[in-house]
Amino acid sequence: MTERPFAAEMPWPDFHARMKDGKTPILIPLGSMEQHGHHMPLHVDVLLPTEFARRVAARVDGLVAPSFTYGYKSQQKCGGGNHMPGTVSLEGQTLVHQLRDVIKEFARHGGRNFAIVNGHYENSWFINEAVDLALRELRWDGVTDVKIVVLSYWDFVNQETIDKIYPDGFPGWAVEHGGVLETSLMLALYPDLVQLQRAVDHPAATFPPYDVYPVKPEWTPSSGTLSSPKNASREKGELMLRICTDGIVQALQDEFSISPGARAAA
Ligand SMILES: [Zn+2]
Repeated sequence: MTERPFAAEMPWPDFHARMKDGKTPILIPLGSMEQHGHHMPLHVDVLLPTEFARRVAARVDGLVAPSFTYGYKSQQKCGGGNHMPGTVSLEGQTLVHQLRDVIKEFARHGGRNFAIVNGHYENSWFINEAVDLALRELRWDGVTDVKIVVLSYWDFVNQETIDKIYPDGFPGWAVEHGGVLETSLMLALYPDLVQLQRAVDHPAATFPPYDVYPVKPEWTPSSGTLSSPKNASREKGELMLRICTDGIVQALQDEFSISPGARAAA
């Protein structure tokens, strides 16, 4: 098992050996530099998908590409807004072009199966656009056998787990920014980077059913989080880590026709 399946940590002959037959799934984590309240650092959205990608890659014999550490502009109703201190973002077309280029480059080296592992909601449509452009341009080059799975790790938290994690009611993923999900995962993985004593407890943010630009800063809770991390715990983080990792592994096994036993036999 490859415990550190990071493509950038390999000498080129090892990378080449893994890439050339096109079978190795390439996982590309996408995050952002974005404020996550008073109690967590700015790279939560990078750390979490990178760790999911690492765990999944170890089970599907994949490689993890270097993570995207900047993402699309934070939106007020799901990330607090791009006006918040600490949030440093890319323009949409910059992100689209960077991801398109990276997919095409890994494909040039032989990669045919890709998983985009998103950790920042605002990246979503730009990922889809980058994937579409990459596939189109690869087709122009005669490469027609590339398959790309696009996923956000939180979508693998099933209803049963949601009921366990949010016994008082689920506020919805949009206002989870800096709340129970991300804080619990960070407590499970990087407890030294969480200062729970500085967490601000407040009701989940509510917004009108429209956006306004320039943003109205008063819409965002002053903490920067959109719901309270008060009920976060390491145990909840470990549960979600397991559920989401298993779900992503299953999805990649299905989509890339990897038999669960093949890994151990390899
Ligand atoms: Zn986040």
